[in-house]
Amino acid sequence: MECEYLVVGGGTAGAVVARRLADAGYTVALVEAGPTAEHDDRVLTLSRHAELLGSELDWSFGVSGALGCDPLMRYSQAKMLGGCSSHNTSIAFRTPDWDLDDWEAAGAVGWGSVSVRPALDRVMDTLKIESANSDNELADAFVRAAVEWGLELSDFRSGNVGHEVGYFRLNKRGDTRDSSAVAYLFPLDMLNLNLRVVAGTYVHRLLIDPAGRAYGADTSMGEIRASREIILSAGVFQTPKLLMLSGLGPAQHLAQFGIPSVVDLPAVGKHLMDHPGSRVLWKAARPLPPAETHWETGAFSQERGSAYPEIQFHFTTQRSKYTPTLQPFEDDVFSLHPNVTRPRSEGTVRLRSADPYVDPAIEPNWFSDTDGYDMAILKRGLRQARDIGRQRSLAPWIERQLLPDSMTDDRALERYIRSTSTTSYHPCGTCRMGRPDPAESVVGPDLRVLGVSGLRVADASIFPCVPTVNPAITAMMVGERCSDFVLGDPF
Ligand SMILES: Cc1cc2nc3c(=O)[nH]c(=O)nc-3n(C[C@H](O)[C@H](O)[C@H](O)COP(=O)(O)OP(=O)(O)OC[C@H]3O[C@@H](n4cnc5c(N)ncnc54)[C@H](O)[C@@H]3O)c2cc1C
Repeated sequence: MECEYLVVGGGTAGAVVARRLADAGYTVALVEAGPTAEHDDRVLTLSRHAELLGSELDWSFGVSGALGCDPLMRYSQAKMLGGCSSHNTSIAFRTPDWDLDDWEAAGAVGWGSVSVRPALDRVMDTLKIESANSDNELADAFVRAAVEWGLELSDFRSGNVGHEVGYFRLNKRGDTRDSSAVAYLFPLDMLNLNLRVVAGTYVHRLLIDPAGRAYGADTSMGEIRASREIILSAGVFQTPKLLMLSGLGPAQHLAQFGIPSVVDLPAVGKHLMDHPGSRVLWKAARPLPPAETHWETGAFSQERGSAYPEIQFHFTTQRSKYTPTLQPFEDDVFSLHPNVTRPRSEGTVRLRSADPYVDPAIEPNWFSDTDGYDMAILKRGLRQARDIGRQRSLAPWIERQLLPDSMTDDRALERYIRSTSTTSYHPCGTCRMGRPDPAESVVGPDLRVLGVSGLRVADASIFPCVPTVNPAITAMMVGERCSDFVLGDPF
């Protein structure tokens, strides 16, 4: 197959890039390993999101090596058009200004908050955004309790969040999720013919000519060639994996698997970040009420004098499938999950094999920062969560606190965190954007992969650090920016 632009991965960011390039009149092939899921009710109906975790639409990666988290934790990653925006909880936040300004200060020139605003506006104008339903009376009690504890009530319209609590804004229309697939691609039969969606097709590796130009991909349906550029949008674990399988990565590591090095890029797979999270679990004093997503409300807490909130909280009435160590052992359990918004520990993604069908090795390496910042913040978050639970509005809902056992014994609390903390599902940074220095960055500010031509990356793997808030809108913004760069600078 031939096209002008090949987009690998039809996920959150990839769907955006493909649509924008096709709208400009180019022939685009959007290659996605999973199905389109265009008429799959489990995917479209937001309240069914939990059914997708662990299903055939989830890559569900395990973790190994240096953990700092629940050893049974799974990294859920969607395998379908729209990627994780097709199975997430649709919490929609603009990227905070300070995060973008920090990206720019770290070398992502042109990515400051003012420059990025038009692309964020485009995403927000394309999506339908609504406030979460407020008919969950327990979530309502949480919001009131958090206000009693000292947080401001917020509608979360601004991404510049502070010491505040409220109902999240969600990308949805009624109970239908507005993923990047829904907003940018569906209905597929109405797309112009120059955008070819190639679903159910697995990309094995990229093809790079002797002059160092990426010209296509080897896939499960044969070779696909691109005459202009390739945009890699396979997500935080599979984008670095595909680069490494294609000879673009740490040369010594690739040599272990007999992969010839095309460009030695030591930063590929480094700098894995997330929002490490823990939780306080309560046994409810009465049956839990029905809810829309079970993740309708949340909060942030910020120390006086700090530039941004150090802790985000998600309140939920949902049982979680993927933290088996903490699996609720009784019915009617609810929880409040603090996470570290700007953690300092970093993990890695590496190959296990030269076989493209073997999962990558993911080492979260949480709580490894030398100053102990991440652990201190999460301990503070758990204590704050407990204190919110003690407020007047939540007290009638609580029979007793189930976990953690003790908040007063600091070492016991630390053990609880190290053995049971879990992902907020916000991994990023494994193909970091920054100064054109291959020791630290994988792509420059124009999203071009260093040392090769004809290849850019557009997904959450390029984030220089994890945004303070939930990141799906930021990933879509990266898709918008990528199309601006490509269209402003073809070839
Ligand atoms: C369970 C869950 C809940 C979340 N909740 C929220 C939330 O409420 N709000 C929020 O803002 N963020 C949320 N997030 C995070 C957010 O959804 C992600 O950060 C974001 O969607 C990542 O987008 P991406 O473009 O980087 O990758 P993805 O959306 O994962 O896209 C990558 C795509 O590439 C495809 N692909 C991978 N490898 C190949 C290959 N070899 N060949 C072909 N195709 C391939 C994948 O199938 C996938 O479709 C959540 C994430 C998860 C997992």
